[in-house]
Amino acid sequence: MTPDSRAILRAWGGARWARLTLASRGDIERLQARLWLDRMAPVVRRTPAVAHLAGRKLAAFPVVGPDEIRADFARWNTLGLDLATAEAGARDAEAGGPGEVAPGVAAGFSTGTAGARGLFLSSEAERARYIGLSLARLLPATALLGRWKAALVLRADNRLYHAVEGAGRFTFRFFPLAGDAAARAEALQAYDPDVLIAPAQVLADLARRAEARPGLPPRLRRLFWGAEPMGAGERVWIAEALGVRPDPIYQATEGFLGAPCAEGTLHLNEDALVVELEAVEGAPLFRPVVTDLYRSSQPMIRVRLDDLIEPLPGRCRCGSALRAIAPVEGRVSDLWRWPGRVVRPAEVWAALEGALGPRAEWRAEASATGVNLSLEPGAAAAKAVAAVAPLAGGRPVRVAEESPLDGGPKRRRVRWRS
Ligand SMILES: [Zn+2]
Repeated sequence: MTPDSRAILRAWGGARWARLTLASRGDIERLQARLWLDRMAPVVRRTPAVAHLAGRKLAAFPVVGPDEIRADFARWNTLGLDLATAEAGARDAEAGGPGEVAPGVAAGFSTGTAGARGLFLSSEAERARYIGLSLARLLPATALLGRWKAALVLRADNRLYHAVEGAGRFTFRFFPLAGDAAARAEALQAYDPDVLIAPAQVLADLARRAEARPGLPPRLRRLFWGAEPMGAGERVWIAEALGVRPDPIYQATEGFLGAPCAEGTLHLNEDALVVELEAVEGAPLFRPVVTDLYRSSQPMIRVRLDDLIEPLPGRCRCGSALRAIAPVEGRVSDLWRWPGRVVRPAEVWAALEGALGPRAEWRAEASATGVNLSLEPGAAAAKAVAAVAPLAGGRPVRVAEESPLDGGPKRRRVRWRS
């Protein structure tokens, strides 16, 4: 089930070529229009949910939520698969099996949003593309020739990621998110990767350990985080503690949405996706509506995600024409919505990092009646309350000394309970 290395190299070359040749919005839009016409028209015809719209412009398609695609799985794939078959394949993949549900097609789970696990399908060609694109966007060109070792910390393993073993001299190892953090840190240290991709909470854990035991940080060349927000102060602290700046990756069940440039700025992968931006009410932020221009086994057409997107003004110093955005700070459903005032997760992060420092664990959950802070025992509670009070608009800020970690697969520090 490993895609052949030629297919990976083709995708890698294509992604690097795109970065060199897409000089303007016009270039990007022309490429997207061509991919929509050439690649996606046949896919649309084979997708029961939208086949009746074949030949139409993208704007004519309905905007759908990930939950609608999940609920209507059989009509949102081109292989005639039903949900039960795909789920059985994904469970097999999670247990270390091939997860094959059709010739060359593997199923897998992703962490998903709001506790609902995402189910995704990938063909050999799609895995090759994913790996080629990832290598092109995340690593220098020389990494394919050298003996780079990559480590990936994730909730669930998937065949998708093992496909990277087919790429050059690259070696790759998966480390599960569940289980003992100390043991994971030891195992990472022993593996000694050049590249580490992990959720923010794992990098924070490693940074704490590195500070406690100088000399511990792995000899990393690149460091990436995804899956959950990281504070601006936390990013600086982790960079100091681990000796490498963590850069954001924007990845979802719905696709590989964004990757950082050499400046550490996140750029949307608009050479493979159309990302429409929908305004969010009450905040200078947007939510993405994503169309993947390459996926064919499980098409993603105008899928509305819950992530908060903030486009950055001007052109990034790296020169890329691909849209630059701030690292994803949270979800639309995490915005604190008081009458007449919307508070962004980034404002809450800034207030609490200012009061407690970037190392502290905390959680801030607001509802119509006020804010509940979960702080570690011994934290500077009065300072934290004073910092959050201006964001609570006169409502009470209550403190509970308890573990701010809720044990969920994703760290969600800022929440809104409606
Ligand atoms: Zn850039």
